[in-house]
Amino acid sequence: MTKIAPQPGIMEIALYKSGEAVIEGRSEILKLSANESPYGASDKARAAFARSAATLHRYPGTDHADLRHAIAEVHGLDPERVICGVGSDEVLQFVAQAYAGPGDEVIHTAHGFAMYPILAHAVGATPVCVAERARVVDVDAILRACTPRTRIVFIANPGNPTGTILPEAELARLAAGIPESAILVLDGAYTEFAEGYDGGVALVEARGNVIMTRTFSKAYGLGGLRIGWGYAQAGMIGVLNRIRQPFNLSQTQLDTAEAAVRDRDWLNRVVGDTIRNRAWLIEALRAAGVAVDDSHANFVLARFASEAEAAACDAALRADGIIVRRVGGYGFPEGLRITVGDESACRRVAHVIGQFRGAR
Ligand SMILES: *Cc1c(COP(=O)(O)O)cnc(C)c1O
Repeated sequence: MTKIAPQPGIMEIALYKSGEAVIEGRSEILKLSANESPYGASDKARAAFARSAATLHRYPGTDHADLRHAIAEVHGLDPERVICGVGSDEVLQFVAQAYAGPGDEVIHTAHGFAMYPILAHAVGATPVCVAERARVVDVDAILRACTPRTRIVFIANPGNPTGTILPEAELARLAAGIPESAILVLDGAYTEFAEGYDGGVALVEARGNVIMTRTFSKAYGLGGLRIGWGYAQAGMIGVLNRIRQPFNLSQTQLDTAEAAVRDRDWLNRVVGDTIRNRAWLIEALRAAGVAVDDSHANFVLARFASEAEAAACDAALRADGIIVRRVGGYGFPEGLRITVGDESACRRVAHVIGQFRGAR
C-alpha cells in the first residue's frame, strides 16, 4: 500500500471539461463549442511561427522583452509591468499560487470560469461561490462575501458563458470595496470584443491589488499556441515573476504572439466581423423565440424554456454536424453557449434553431 498523498485540496478538483470536438460517425463538423476564432490566425503570425522552426534547438529568451514591448506599445502600457504565461490560465495560476493557500478564501461568481475553483483548490485554498444577478456579476454580493480571509476575487469581464459585462464604474466600486489585502483579478479573455472596454487599465494604474489578464486564444485565433499575459503594478509583477518558470514560453510562442499583436489590421477585421455576426445571430435567435442577452464576447448564451428543450436543440444541431456547448456545469442547464462563427456558420445555426423552434 502506498503512503503517498496529494496536498490538501487537490482531490477536491473536478477535472476541467473542454468544449467537445467530435460527433460520432461524422467527419465534417462545425465546432462552435470553445470560442475559437473562425478566421484562424493572421498570415503574419503563421509566417513567424514557420520562421521559428530554424531555431528550435535554441532555448528561448527568459525575459519575454520583445513580446512585452510589442504588447505595451500597442496598448499604451508599461512593458516592465507585463507578464506573459502559457495562456492567461497560467497567469491566473501564478496569482493563486503566489497569494493564496490553506485557510484562505478565493471568491468567484456563480457563472464564472470553471478554472477559478480549480486554481483555488490546487493551492489548498477555499473557493467561495457568489451568486450573480440576472446573469450579471453582482458587486454587492461579492462585497458581502468578503472576509478577512479573502485573498483573491476572480471575475471574468466580459463573463463566460454569460457574455455580459460590468461597466467600469462598477469595477471601480468593486476594487474600492474589497479588503486591501485581497487581489481583484479582471480576467479579460474577451476584452477585444467589448467595444469601448480596455480590460481595466485605469484600475490597474490606480491600485496595487488589481491585475488584468488577456489572451491570444480568442480574438487572435491562437488558442492552440497557448499564450496570454497579465498587467499589474510593479510590486505584484515582481512577485509573480519569481514563481514563473524562466522558460515557460517557447521562442515559437513568443515570436508568433509578437507578430500577431502587431498585426492590428487583422485583429480589427476579425473583431469587426465578429461583432457584426454576433448582432445578426442574436436577432435571429430572438426572432425564433430564444432568450439571449446582449453579448460583449465572441459567443452568445441561448436560453431555452427548460433543460429538456436545450438538450433537444443540442441534438438537432448535432444532427446537422454543429457542436455547441452545454453549460449545465456553469449553472445554465437550460442554456447553450454558441460561439459566433463566420457569416455562413451563423446562418447555419440560425437555420437549424429556427427549424427546431418552428417544429415545436
Ligand atoms: C478562454 C478563456 C480564458 C483564456 O484561457 P487561455 O489560457 O488564455 O487560453 C480565460 N478566461 C476565460 C473566462 C476564458 O473563457
